[in-house]
Amino acid sequence: MRNANLPLRPRRAAAKAVDSAEVHERIWSAIMDHSLPPETRLVETELCEIFGLGRTRLRQVLQRLAHERVVTLMPNRGATVAKPSVREAREVFAARRVIEASLVESFIKTATRKDIKQLQDHLAREDDAWRGNDRRAILKLSGEFHLLLAEIADNNILLELLRDLISRSSLIIAVYQAPGAAPCPPDAHRELTGALERRDRGAIKLMTQHLDHVLADLMLEDRGEARADLRSVFGAKS
Ligand SMILES: [Zn+2]
Repeated sequence: MRNANLPLRPRRAAAKAVDSAEVHERIWSAIMDHSLPPETRLVETELCEIFGLGRTRLRQVLQRLAHERVVTLMPNRGATVAKPSVREAREVFAARRVIEASLVESFIKTATRKDIKQLQDHLAREDDAWRGNDRRAILKLSGEFHLLLAEIADNNILLELLRDLISRSSLIIAVYQAPGAAPCPPDAHRELTGALERRDRGAIKLMTQHLDHVLADLMLEDRGEARADLRSVFGAKS
């Protein structure tokens, strides 16, 4: 933590212009890989300095993260990393079960060969991330697999609901997952894609079973949280 009595040092490396999207990505990733645990305060002045970003643009980033339910904005308290409760975790997966079973059913009816190919291409990208042991990419691509399926199933309302649920799921998984466990095991997506290719209605059950497994693999218990220092997380000089 910077001593408040010291004069501000001129920014050096941090002075490199960054755009809001990059700052969003860095904060999002730090939350997802748990370097910033739930309830960490995201102090505006500190983040503005770390990223060399103006206050208005930083607030836009925080608002976007709040919209994605990864960050909580509270009047007079500012922004903190959201803390999904055990109850919320269960409810999110219960909602996903209903929505995604319905989306798989629509997918089977409406998907074209081109759509199936798109899903297979996505699967190949997931495989690459697994081979490279790129955990950040694995988490992102796992969620995107479910969203792609929803896009193809072509119901905008359900897609919108699912976007929100997937974003919450990513944080739930980051918080409650056993260390080293996989968010979505690649075999589950492969098996599901195989059934979808054959337009086999068994895919509906595969989807609900897959979601049940993801939930069952979480260590759902309320726990106290560690603290993180923003500067050391983002590699800025203090
Ligand atoms: Zn999955």
